[in-house]
Order: sequence, then C-alpha cells, then structure tokens
Amino acid sequence: MLQEVSKLISLQSVDSDIKSLMQEQQELPTGLRGLESNLAALQARTAAKQQELEETRKQHRQMEAEMAMLDEGITRSRQRLMEIKDNIEYKAMLKEIAFKEDRKDQKETEVLELLEQIESCTAHLESLHQESSVLQEALEKSRAEVQAEMAQRQEQLQTLLAQREEIEKAIPKQLVRRYDFIREKRHGLAIAEVRQGVCQACHMNLPPQKFIELQMDKELMTCPHCQRIIYYAPQDENGASDPAQAA
Ligand SMILES: [Zn+2]
Repeated sequence: MLQEVSKLISLQSVDSDIKSLMQEQQELPTGLRGLESNLAALQARTAAKQQELEETRKQHRQMEAEMAMLDEGITRSRQRLMEIKDNIEYKAMLKEIAFKEDRKDQKETEVLELLEQIESCTAHLESLHQESSVLQEALEKSRAEVQAEMAQRQEQLQTLLAQREEIEKAIPKQLVRRYDFIREKRHGLAIAEVRQGVCQACHMNLPPQKFIELQMDKELMTCPHCQRIIYYAPQDENGASDPAQAA
C-alpha cells in the first residue's frame, strides 16, 4: 500500500474519533434539559402559591381591620346606649348593636377560614420548597457529572488533535487539503477501501480496468462515482475489519 494512503487511513480514523467525540460533547448537556424544565415548572408553581399566600394574608389583614372597626363601633354604640332616655331610640340602638355583632360574627368565621387557608398554603409552599431543593440538588449533581464527562472528552479530544497533527505532518500539504475537501463534501469520509471491485463508501463497482490499476498500487486513485480516494488492501479481502471503515 502507498505510504500516503496508509497515512490518510490513520488520519481518517483519528478524524472519525474526533467527530464522534465532538458529537458526544454536544449531546451530553441535553440530558440536563429534562431536569431543568421540571425545576422551572416547580418554581413557577411555587411562585404562584407564594402569590396566593400573600393575597390571602392581605385579605386576612383587611378582615382584621374591618373587625376592629366593627368592635369600636359596637363599643361606641354601647356607650351611647347608656345616655339614651327615649324608648324607641333605645330599641333602635339595641337593634343596631345586634346587627353589628352579627356582622362581627360573620367576619370572625371568615377570618378563621382565611387562617386555615394561610396554614394550608404555607404547608403546601413548604413541600414545594422541599421538592425544589431535592430537584435542585439532583440537577447540580447531574451538572457536575456532565462537566466531568465534558472535561474528560476535552482531554481525549486534545490527545486526538495532537495525534492528528503528528499524522498530518507526514502527509504532503496538498494531499491533506484534498483529503479535507473531499471529507467535507462526503460526510466525513474521504478515503474508502475497494473490495472485490466495489467502493465500500458508495457501494458502486469500479470499472474492471480501474480496479486492476488500483491493485497495482502505483498511484493515488479516486472512485469515479463518489470521488473519494480509494485503496485496495489485499489482506482485507477475507473480510477482516478495517479501521478506515469504522467511520
Ligand atoms: Zn465510491
């Protein structure tokens, strides 16, 4: 096999490893999306509950203020009652006091209901906060794991890039450019093996004469169908796997 061809095969093998590593790096953080959106939904529910609690508290404060006013009114009416001499006016005042006390009773029931609501809201919020913190912790953990994995991939990538540079040095620049060009146009595969006259990348038959020339291993040749650089590896005719085909 031509030396240039075997170098290109190594280059393609490293390039395909680089490509899958980069793909992994892109895909790794997507595992976090589910957790992140769950947490966001939980935070939205928490915020809504918090608002509900604040509104209920506000209603409760208003109600207490109204009750205090009613109380004051009742006290004042009772004081005036002592001063009233007229029987009809006295009865009217008694009626007014009874009415105010009734209202106060109603308000008291409403205040109790609001207090219950505040209590249940607070408990609900507490459990939402707990749920959030559990999820937050899980997310932090996953993030750290992803980061560690990313760092590991990055390290592997650096090694591969250094390897690529070494291999590239041993290949004529013009050929590397040609390889890069084909690789870009042909989905990352620039060099392909030909087995039994068939290009293993595009699965088309080589013209018989061309296949004979290829087996003579005299010069760099390309597939007439897919324009990839092609090679023939006699030791692989029995179907042994070839690293260049792993891409
Ligand atoms: Zn081909």
